[in-house]
Amino acid sequence: MCEEVAEDVVLSMMDKRSLYQRLTTSIFALVISLLLCCVTDVRTFKVVDLTHELSDTTIYWPGNPQYNFSILARGQGSSFWYESNYVAQAEHGGTHVDAPAHFYEGAWRTHQIPMERLTGPAVIIDVKEKARSNPDYRVQVSDVEDWESVNGRIPDNAVVVMNSGWGYKYPNKTAVFGTSTPEVPSTFHFPAWHHDTVMWLINKRFVYMIGVDTPSTDYGQSTEFPTHVVLAKYNVIGLENVANLDRLPVSGSRLFAAVIKTKDGSGGPARLFATISTEERECTATGCRQGSNLSVLTLVID
Ligand SMILES: [Zn+2]
Repeated sequence: MCEEVAEDVVLSMMDKRSLYQRLTTSIFALVISLLLCCVTDVRTFKVVDLTHELSDTTIYWPGNPQYNFSILARGQGSSFWYESNYVAQAEHGGTHVDAPAHFYEGAWRTHQIPMERLTGPAVIIDVKEKARSNPDYRVQVSDVEDWESVNGRIPDNAVVVMNSGWGYKYPNKTAVFGTSTPEVPSTFHFPAWHHDTVMWLINKRFVYMIGVDTPSTDYGQSTEFPTHVVLAKYNVIGLENVANLDRLPVSGSRLFAAVIKTKDGSGGPARLFATISTEERECTATGCRQGSNLSVLTLVID
């Protein structure tokens, strides 16, 4: 009798353990299924380089030293090839970032710019025709409103970049500065942003970055640099000499400004690039298929 009872108890315990194991397995399977169901919109992206290469032809504002690249070692050793170089350069030359500290005391220096401020949806404002007939053109609020009437409201925290067609002139110094005397700033003629337009974008669209395909966010004839001051005062990042803007759609891409992390810098050379979605796939536990609903790409930057 006692043996039978003991056997029942053991069986009962095994049943419970088995039931518990089955329950645990089921919950685990449910969690995995839910996760797989939620992993949607796995997409592929085309990446566009928006950066002029650094070289002896890199354009700097007058007064800055030229780009300095020298070879420290380059050649075949006893068992391997070896290359190493020395590079020195001013912060504000070629394709680069203006940190807010560039024109406002106490504002973020380069190493202090939060990473999330260095990326955003790209908005390209095309003013090529206006800049062709007037090299002193400054992007107006009406240009932004015209863009919105076609493409919809500029998303919050965007990167808004002027495409004046100037990128094709780079690195021809006289063409880029619009003068036969590129060492004399008072003779410069190139387009950029009007500071009122930038103020509008900051107040009404909360932009993170403002860019130009010319050497300055202020136009060539500027002497007080009000656009620089407004950008800096409101901790908005400036991008200058942005390249290859015709390779981007006017909306729908995402821009990244990978600026060198100089401690106490006022800006610096940056690898600018943008991602454009080329495919959308929806993936579930049973596989992937082409989807139809676009969703925002989320990048986690640590
Ligand atoms: Zn600059």
